[in-house]
Amino acid sequence: MNLQERDKKHLWHPLKQHQTHPDSLGIVKAKGCILTDEKGNEYIDAISSWYTCMFGHCNDFITSRVYQQMQTLDQIMFSDFTHEPAVKLSEELIKILPKNQNRIFFNDNGSTAVEASIKMALQYYFNKGEKRSTFIAFENGFHGDTFGAMSVSGLSAYNGPFEDFLMDIKRIPVPNGKNNDEILSQLKEIISKNDIAGFIYEPLVQGAAGMKIHEAADLNEILKYLKNKNILTIADEVMTGFGKTGNNFASDEIATKPDIICLSKALTGGLVPMAITSCTEEIYSTFLSNDIAKGFFHCHTYSANPIACSAALATIELLQTKEIQDSIEFISNAHKTFEDKIKQHSKVASTRCKGVILAIDLKTNANRYGSLRDELLKYFMEDGVFLRPLGNTIYIQPPYVITEKQLKKVYTTIEKVLDIF
Ligand SMILES: *Cc1c(COP(=O)(O)O)cnc(C)c1O
Repeated sequence: MNLQERDKKHLWHPLKQHQTHPDSLGIVKAKGCILTDEKGNEYIDAISSWYTCMFGHCNDFITSRVYQQMQTLDQIMFSDFTHEPAVKLSEELIKILPKNQNRIFFNDNGSTAVEASIKMALQYYFNKGEKRSTFIAFENGFHGDTFGAMSVSGLSAYNGPFEDFLMDIKRIPVPNGKNNDEILSQLKEIISKNDIAGFIYEPLVQGAAGMKIHEAADLNEILKYLKNKNILTIADEVMTGFGKTGNNFASDEIATKPDIICLSKALTGGLVPMAITSCTEEIYSTFLSNDIAKGFFHCHTYSANPIACSAALATIELLQTKEIQDSIEFISNAHKTFEDKIKQHSKVASTRCKGVILAIDLKTNANRYGSLRDELLKYFMEDGVFLRPLGNTIYIQPPYVITEKQLKKVYTTIEKVLDIF
């Protein structure tokens, strides 16, 4: 029996209706931008396996650092102990994070990074003797699948069974270049009627919503307004962090800096799971007290796992190299050229581009929407490219190490699809 058949006996996959979609493709190898399945077929990983493997799969530099670390110190509790990889990682991250960030708290995935940020914000006010219970978030945001993260997420299509158990969230529209006055007046109204603990947002690019992009200046107005009202701002950079938007972080482009930042996905270059919630010294200081209960009693067993820290350190080192910075610029420019080329295509409704992210919305009639995604996915795979459309949106987010030839192949595959569908 092959992997695909053996898989069906005991496994339960995420985000899957097993009755209608029973098959999962067996992957046996991944190197650089190429995935190899169990039949020997190769695919270009044009979405970096959910925006994680930005330096290519099984990157030699990262794996060698991890191998070294594995032989020295594998795992140690981070409550009471500390170690070089965590200390060094905090030093290196603080150098590249927005200047107001000064504290690094470890988690193990994007959802728990968000979860910790929500608890940090709530306890920040609690420790100051204020009770605040409501968060503001964008419509169609995505922040993860644990309860707090699910609550602040506005993409609720699959949240039905849990809706009664979610936190109280007030939603505002995403800036579109025309609606900022409306957003600010909604904010004013929301703040006057609720005790708001924080505003959580995906800066510049809303990933799961279909790589929707908004302007830094518009977002900045919102952040500035909230800052003046003494409301904490939480940037969920789980997707946008580590070079995706052209800067180290999307927040680099926005004048008003967040109080808290959530990081994961590309943090370890896709090698092992890890996440970080960073914050300002001001937030951290409200947790200092002779009263033990004012500390942050939130912990995951694998916090600051030394192996994951070593992968993150290697990732940050790679990100700063001229080679990678040049690649980011190369991909970004290539995307713009391709975007100009296909913009006018009769099947293309709209396109957008930011850093290494390119999104193309296809014109489609509503009743085809659900099946279109599956058809597109199948076609792309048959053509040797792994792209995973979100509804009728095709998006590319390739590893920074993608070659010119591989990137051209991805574009050609998309062009073929535009002509067929
Ligand atoms: C993926 C993602 C998350 C959730 O991360 P997980 O590691 O899947 O839990 C949260 N926020 C954003 C913006 C994401 O893209």
